[in-house]
Amino acid sequence: MGPQVRSGRKIHMVIEMGKHTPLVIGILIVCLLCAPVLAGLPDGNRMEQIGQRAAYTAMSDLGFTNGDYNVVVLTNAGRAIVDGQTTERAISGITKISGLQNGDNTLWVVNRPEWKPLWFYFYDKKTGKGVYLEPDTSFYTKSNAEVSQVRFYDTFSRHVVVNGDLEKMLADTEVGNKTMKDLGGNSGVVAIANAWAHGAPYDMLSAVMLHDHFCPGVSSGYILAKYVEEKMPITGGMSYVYISSPRWCKDDVFPILWDLTPGKGGHYIYDLSQEDQDGLTAYYGTRPAGIFIRWDSKAKSGHALLLGFKFDESTWTGPSWGEKPKKVLDMIENLQTPEKYVVVLEEFDVNESMLADLKDPAKNPYEVIGVICTTCK
Ligand SMILES: [Zn+2]
Repeated sequence: MGPQVRSGRKIHMVIEMGKHTPLVIGILIVCLLCAPVLAGLPDGNRMEQIGQRAAYTAMSDLGFTNGDYNVVVLTNAGRAIVDGQTTERAISGITKISGLQNGDNTLWVVNRPEWKPLWFYFYDKKTGKGVYLEPDTSFYTKSNAEVSQVRFYDTFSRHVVVNGDLEKMLADTEVGNKTMKDLGGNSGVVAIANAWAHGAPYDMLSAVMLHDHFCPGVSSGYILAKYVEEKMPITGGMSYVYISSPRWCKDDVFPILWDLTPGKGGHYIYDLSQEDQDGLTAYYGTRPAGIFIRWDSKAKSGHALLLGFKFDESTWTGPSWGEKPKKVLDMIENLQTPEKYVVVLEEFDVNESMLADLKDPAKNPYEVIGVICTTCK
């Protein structure tokens, strides 16, 4: 049904019929049995309707059918709270109509503050086309009767179809500039969708969802984590402790990949001064990323790697919006060769007292391991 129809009018009819006809009898019965329980339903149904309308609109604009693996939808549904309503059922609505779902790696919920507007971005990697939608906020408060009069295309106050293929955008800067302008404050979806299209792994995308954008910084965290997992694999009662210093976007990878969260510990950040950063970078020839410890809680001992990370520092001559997304794609293509980026600056064993010192927020970890000495002179 739905996927075959292309016009907004026809789609409108399909969803209203498909929704109401089978539901009418069921609703009547349920009303008789437990009327008070129904009081909470309309809000959730409204979100589901919005998700369905978003899916139908995107399928019409981009011309894809149910469950197309070439399409991904990015959204903050489930994170956004609009008009006091949570928005997770918009995700159900999208999946019911388009078949796109997280378990197929075709639906991702991007982290955003709860107070930001609800949005959807569908991207087809085969055609390079994307469609960006934001519901008209009046849709949240309309009565069901009023909603049934709203045509699909009128559900959204922002509705733009863009060329979202980064390679094409870079090849024709005017096209690229237009895409970035049309997407405005949400233009970060271009980097995520293109990284997805270039095969960014599921766990990498999971970390990116928390970080809310795809940048070389968060990519460096993923590459560092995978390097550590390979060189110091976890067995038995072992776990990782990460003394991050200095902080950058990489730090948002570890809560997802290693379950190291601010609340539970295991991930400590020491904000290194610029002077120390510059000094260490000059000393090692590589920017330090921090100390990764594999800790054995039974033996009360650990092994540590001080790692550095080499970013691609080559001069960028294209449009400014293109540099970071393009560098992300390069990093994804090189995930199998982390040694291109990661350098072991030091390797050493850690005992309990050293671990306590490294975790101490008042102590510079590079002083703890004896690389920096402030009292030597
Ligand atoms: Zn970032």
